[in-house]
Amino acid sequence: MNLKNKRIGILGMAKSGLAAAKKIQELGGIPFLSELKTEENINDSLFIKKRFECEFEGHTEKLFNSDLIIVSPGIPLNIPILQKAKAKKNKLISEIEFGYLLKHPASKIIAVTGSNGKSTTVSLIHHILQTAGYKSILAGNIGNALTSFPIDEKGIDFIVLELSSFQLDLIDTFKADVGVILNITPDHLNRYSSFDDYANSKMNIFQNQTENDLAIINLDDNTLLKFHHKISSIKKSFSLKSKADVYFDGNFIIHQKDKFSLTDTKLFGPHNIANIMASILAVSYLGINSEIIRKALKTFSPLPHRLEFITQINSVKFFNDSKATNTDSVKFALKSFAKPVRIIMGGSDKEEDYSVLNPLLKKHAKKIYLIGETANKMKEIFISAADISTFTDLKKCIFTAFSEAEKDDIILLSPGCASFDMFNNFEERGYTFKKIVTELKNEN
Ligand code: ADP
Repeated sequence: MNLKNKRIGILGMAKSGLAAAKKIQELGGIPFLSELKTEENINDSLFIKKRFECEFEGHTEKLFNSDLIIVSPGIPLNIPILQKAKAKKNKLISEIEFGYLLKHPASKIIAVTGSNGKSTTVSLIHHILQTAGYKSILAGNIGNALTSFPIDEKGIDFIVLELSSFQLDLIDTFKADVGVILNITPDHLNRYSSFDDYANSKMNIFQNQTENDLAIINLDDNTLLKFHHKISSIKKSFSLKSKADVYFDGNFIIHQKDKFSLTDTKLFGPHNIANIMASILAVSYLGINSEIIRKALKTFSPLPHRLEFITQINSVKFFNDSKATNTDSVKFALKSFAKPVRIIMGGSDKEEDYSVLNPLLKKHAKKIYLIGETANKMKEIFISAADISTFTDLKKCIFTAFSEAEKDDIILLSPGCASFDMFNNFEERGYTFKKIVTELKNEN
């Protein structure tokens, strides 16, 4: 794509917007950045003003003076300026589509989406490819924006992308050599008009795939079963319950003649078996052999804030699952332990139906400790599932759970909600949890 003297509008001055602006400038184009927030609320606004044409505190029609408009993933597509842009037939794309248009043709793309498990799965695929000696980069919703890498140059063998439904909303020609959908369960329903709309966004990952590309799906996911007829590339599936291309026999993960033992990895819980199975299908298609996969499984360090073991105080174990921001991830967290746990839940509301957790909470929760914006709503919903206490303060909540804990108990933070009511993000929530647990440990 030739960007020489092309004017490109960018909505949003966060990570991906800025990365795109720098890349456009580097390649001789003229970026124009537009942001809703005030200058004071944008990091590095002085640097941005100096280096790029830009506007703050609202999007104006200046944006229409562009050949192309890149829309950052956090921006809802129904805002007036985008409606107008669509009416004027301005081309709207995501930063992912833009990166795809620029990338070197020899770099292959492995793209992963799903409601849960994306970060874990892309990190594992990236680690396996690196273990095999390839030059792989990890980009998208995780770590750095795609256009922050030298993707237009030769030398990158594989681009492993974590894609959210928002990033998939505005793709056009983007094609994944290997596309993966891990699962489609209710999430972000406050942004989509229906669950089918959300599912269709995820299915965009297979859009443009041809007969030589691979689509990987989860056979245990009812929504995927409903939509998978739309796939026209090679289809492979994984399952925890039945014999798919990769499956779990109760002890081993089986792929063709190969068996993979779970004692080889620090990842645990049924959801992580699913993530490993999807990764095995992806890398096998790229020619990686089972010995390399085994070696990589042994050396892979699970990501923080995803069912992360923190410490043990006396015999009580603490797990941080702050990234569990929807009900499905909580379901898997509950199923990952052999005995009932003391679970800390609650946070900012994504308007999910929390009652779907009642049967599992009944079986797997010794007690429920609720915090945050959803505490009272959840209390009403979970009232008959287990004993419940509510708190306004996380420290009080953790200290109480510990004081009530019996020998060998497990205390698990798995909120089932976003974190924005009390924290900047799920990482801050997880670190705060760890800090308080460390304080508690020092006192004991
Ligand atoms: P994502 O990037 O899609 O948010 P993560 O790997 O960061 O996924 O995990 C997010 C949350 O979902 C964590 O609580 C984790 O334990 C849980 N999780 C991970 N993989 C899966 C899966 N395949 N199905 C359901 N929950 C999962």
